[in-house]
Amino acid sequence: MDAWDLSASLVRLVILLGAMVGLPFLRRWVGGPLKAYLVAFGGLLFVSMAEAVQFWQLVVQTDYRPPGIAWDTLCTLSTGYVAILLGLLMWIRDLRRIRDELQRSNLTLQEAAATDFLTGLLSRRQASFLLDFETARARRSGRPLGFIMIDLDLFKQVNDTYGHLAGDAVLVHVGQLLKSRLRASDIVCRYGGEEFLVLLPDATYENTTDLANSLRKLLEESPTRYGDNEITIRASFGVAVSHIDGGVTAQDAITRADAALYAAKALGRNRVVSWEEIAPRTAAATVGKN
Ligand code: GH3
Ligand code: MG
Ligand code: MG
Repeated sequence: MDAWDLSASLVRLVILLGAMVGLPFLRRWVGGPLKAYLVAFGGLLFVSMAEAVQFWQLVVQTDYRPPGIAWDTLCTLSTGYVAILLGLLMWIRDLRRIRDELQRSNLTLQEAAATDFLTGLLSRRQASFLLDFETARARRSGRPLGFIMIDLDLFKQVNDTYGHLAGDAVLVHVGQLLKSRLRASDIVCRYGGEEFLVLLPDATYENTTDLANSLRKLLEESPTRYGDNEITIRASFGVAVSHIDGGVTAQDAITRADAALYAAKALGRNRVVSWEEIAPRTAAATVGKN
């Protein structure tokens, strides 16, 4: 008996049996199709049996001849290994399919997070990413950024009078109207329930106020058709134009637009008020300076 042949065969047999036992655990851990697992398992069984026969022949020394060029052994082993390989390929194909599905659903999720589900405008979260980008650009170029904060007037009454679905239709309509007037480079998002934020890169005070006035007029003149009803909606606008520098951040500018909007509400709604008009009165309550 050749001790080296015997121990080598024993090691191979133990490895093969270990692989057979480990395969179900591997499948549970990695996942994958049952068919691939069965094919690979079948292959392992095939090879293990060939190895077991060889091991037994070594133990009992019945006219044992070393394998190598023995065709029957070669065929048995190669059939088993082909089956294992086939199983692994099926497994890999399945993993790739799962990866593709994950990539697709990742994209869908990213899109959903970037968009407001009702109006189709940018979500506040996505707008804040873009705002960071525009802020950095404005700081480099030294150009001002225009901010318009919009809040629909007495919107609760729309819900109370026509129902919540009618209110939703108004929000969708307003979103479309806002989008129709803005340039592709402008950013508009649904900031909250019935609040919208418009960000205008490279905008002057005049540009921003003119646009806010034209949006105010557009909303007032474009009622939402809902069933047999025409729902007229008005809105208040707060405008702020800021040079983003060490003293003023984008958040400061939004706070200013918000303060101007608050003033527009206090002054009777359906109007545009800019931070510049109210700054002397509220300067004490704000951070940074223009
Ligand atoms: P003001 O002029 O002072 O802003 O009055 P308002 O009624 O617009 O403000 P208020 O904050 O009292 O009410 C806002 C309303 O907006 C209440 C809320 O139910 C409604 N709202 C917020 N989000 C949605 C939405 O997604 N769909 C609908 N239909 N209504 C919404
Ligand atoms: Mg509001
Ligand atoms: Mg409102």
